[in-house]
Amino acid sequence: MLKHSGAVSILHAFLDASRWRSVREEKGKIPQKTVHVYVLETGGCEGCHMEVETLAGSAFALEKYGFKKVTDPVEADWLLVTGAMSRSCVNMLERVWNTMPQGKSLIAVGQCAIDGGIFGNSYATLGGLDKLTAVKRMIPGCPPSPHEILNGLRNIIEN
Ligand code: SF4
Repeated sequence: MLKHSGAVSILHAFLDASRWRSVREEKGKIPQKTVHVYVLETGGCEGCHMEVETLAGSAFALEKYGFKKVTDPVEADWLLVTGAMSRSCVNMLERVWNTMPQGKSLIAVGQCAIDGGIFGNSYATLGGLDKLTAVKRMIPGCPPSPHEILNGLRNIIEN
């Protein structure tokens, strides 16, 4: 009995995820070509980053909506930034951005990435991307849920 409990737990988790996904699916435009996204955490509490990771997990089937998370910025079309812009991460952000091919977009995910959120502007942070760049693509929330992030990405495709 005990030796089957792991498999049963996995099966329950799968069934839960399937049910959860089915009630959250919505109509919307699917990109013509898969959009490769690279995710960078630059500070904050990592809450937004965890929500993006959840979105990239199996429960949401992100690729079905035309997006794919990549681990190398060289392959990325969009850069998703989560967290406030900590001073120690500025060079890393610049390096990642410069590594990405032309036609790239920068998207701030969560309030900290937009304007610094609760971390504001301090000895450790420079606020958010709105002060540093002309980024106009933003997904607000603290944190935005995976569903809200997905809707935000799909809205960006449509507009
Ligand atoms: S917006 Fe909220 S959840 Fe996201 S990194 Fe900032 S404090 Fe954390």
